[in-house]
Amino acid sequence: MAQPRIWLDEVIDAIRSLGGKAHYDDIYQKILDRRIMNFDDNPNWRAAVRQNIEMYSSDSDAFSGKRDVFYSVEGKGKGIWGLRPEYLKSDDTEIPLEVLIKKERQIASSTASLSDEQLISKANQVQSFSPRKRNVRSTVYERNIFVSEHAKRRAHGRCQLCGKDAPFADKNGKPYLETHHIIWLSEGGHDTIDNTVALCPNCHRKMHILNRKEDIKKLCALINQAQKHGAE
Ligand SMILES: [Zn+2]
Ligand SMILES: [Zn+2]
Repeated sequence: MAQPRIWLDEVIDAIRSLGGKAHYDDIYQKILDRRIMNFDDNPNWRAAVRQNIEMYSSDSDAFSGKRDVFYSVEGKGKGIWGLRPEYLKSDDTEIPLEVLIKKERQIASSTASLSDEQLISKANQVQSFSPRKRNVRSTVYERNIFVSEHAKRRAHGRCQLCGKDAPFADKNGKPYLETHHIIWLSEGGHDTIDNTVALCPNCHRKMHILNRKEDIKKLCALINQAQKHGAE
């Protein structure tokens, strides 16, 4: 299983949450406690941590010459490393939400190879029955409500991908559809009426999981047609 994020980012966050400098032993422990990285398939992960620190420190002979992130606090051989000031800023020690989502997906896709017995045994390997809570850091896009309303109105209660009626009505009796950006906002798409469609929840999920070219094409063609009609 791959790692949900690069080691460099995880080491930076770990040292930051240890107050900006720490000994290797504490860095390892912190990284274990954070339970983000995949340790099982990478028994030599501690070496990866050391390697990353040395590659990104001009205080080390192994410095890659790229970003100079870490400094040796008490000189070589002491194993105490600190973050240079530009990496210390902010109290962003929380894990980005995307990292957590990626980790979950990686674990989920690795379960396919487990037998039923293995799966049950893993499922029952719990420390506590109430789910563990985690604070995460996330970035959200502020959406234009008018764009969204316009897209829904233009759909006339029908999903613009599968063409079926909305599966249910909302509390106000309006057909329930969700708005979707054909080019995702996270990929630089615009929050405008020519990039927004209204979809049923199934098709919306499908777009986010598969984002198939033919579906994108279909939606774009639909929007183009609607734009032309609007101009007439
Ligand atoms: Zn649909
Ligand atoms: Zn969407």
